[in-house]
Amino acid sequence: MGIEVKNIQKKFKDFKALDNVNLKVASGELVALLGPSGSGKTTLLRIIAGLELPDEGSVMLDGELAHQKDVRQRQVGFVFQHYALFKHMTVFENVAFGMRVRPKRTRPSDANIREKVMELLSLVHLEQFGNRYPSQLSGGQRQRVALARALAVEPKVLLLDEPFGALDAKVRKELRRWMRRLHDEMHITSIFVTHDQEEAMEVSDRVVVMSNGRIEQVGTPEEVYHKPANGFVYDFLGNYNSFDGWKDKGGNLHLAEYDVQENTVPASTPVTSRIELRSLLGKLVPSLKPVVQPEPEKKIKRHRLKLGEGSPVKLFARPHEMYIAKKAEDDFEYIETKVVHVNPAGPLVKLELERQNGEIIQTEIPKDVCDKLAVKKGDVLLARPKKLRTFE
Ligand code: ADP
Ligand code: MG
Repeated sequence: MGIEVKNIQKKFKDFKALDNVNLKVASGELVALLGPSGSGKTTLLRIIAGLELPDEGSVMLDGELAHQKDVRQRQVGFVFQHYALFKHMTVFENVAFGMRVRPKRTRPSDANIREKVMELLSLVHLEQFGNRYPSQLSGGQRQRVALARALAVEPKVLLLDEPFGALDAKVRKELRRWMRRLHDEMHITSIFVTHDQEEAMEVSDRVVVMSNGRIEQVGTPEEVYHKPANGFVYDFLGNYNSFDGWKDKGGNLHLAEYDVQENTVPASTPVTSRIELRSLLGKLVPSLKPVVQPEPEKKIKRHRLKLGEGSPVKLFARPHEMYIAKKAEDDFEYIETKVVHVNPAGPLVKLELERQNGEIIQTEIPKDVCDKLAVKKGDVLLARPKKLRTFE
């Protein structure tokens, strides 16, 4: 079932919880609503479910106005963060509940209910646990029961509000993968609320980024991460460094203040080679000492933004977009820093580099690169953003 949300406005007293929200979810899609706490995710989900009415706007389910259908007709399944399982019922009875309370004429027979519950329990890998009570299950298992219970009424839409929010990191990851597989098998149109970027990126076909009751961007995980629509989306999806910079007349971005390694001895200084000298002097100098070409001495020179060279802008780069070097290579725009912290635990080494103005630059560098440079705390390092972006 496809979902279309049009021009939704919702106020709580004077507070605008949703401000002109528009969203289309295709049939069979798995969409994540991602945003900080208080951004309106739950309110939007409750309006789609029919548990809350919008002040303005409409929700269409399968092309029909949803508010004309009551909650049961909407065929919506819910899973919430706090597994509201019935404590006094076994796992089996919890899953069977939605079928048992149907009006007599549409209620399946006991045998059918039994078959359906066993099928769902096997789907969530809990077929051995039908006789247990919720208190005898782990958090992850309870959440799987909640999902089986939501699926028991054969919903056309599945709405999940931070379903794994209360679980520890490892279980969350497991359930995430498992939910993705379940969705691939069943293709129920699903909206999944989370404030965890990684969870949204990993599970969903598309991500809807929300803040302050508004949708900031809708896109595939790749789009929202690599092509953030604005500074909010960029900020919400990961760590970053910010720099003062400027945009030149050709639209290229530069750091406002940076260090360039320059040769103090111009590379064009004429040096006569040993071979030439020998032929020049001939036999006059029988034991010629090798002439050593002097290494041009290199020095760091500081550059500053000059007014008139472009317009000043704020520039951003993610930690993994930083490049580090012990010595400058070419005349790139480097920043001279000191290593203040090294965290090698993980696939990338996290380095905290302190600029001369005291600001910290976060970097994430492949371990072999750090090993080759023998980076340690206290070292002087040059850093440069491989990629810069601005939202101005
Ligand atoms: P989220 O799920 O993104 O954390 P919510 O949709 O729960 O955000 O809430 C959005 C805003 O609306 C919050 O500031 C919240 O305090 C407010 N809000 C939500 N429900 C109510 C309510 N029933 N009464 C008053 N304010 C509410
Ligand atoms: Mg919420």
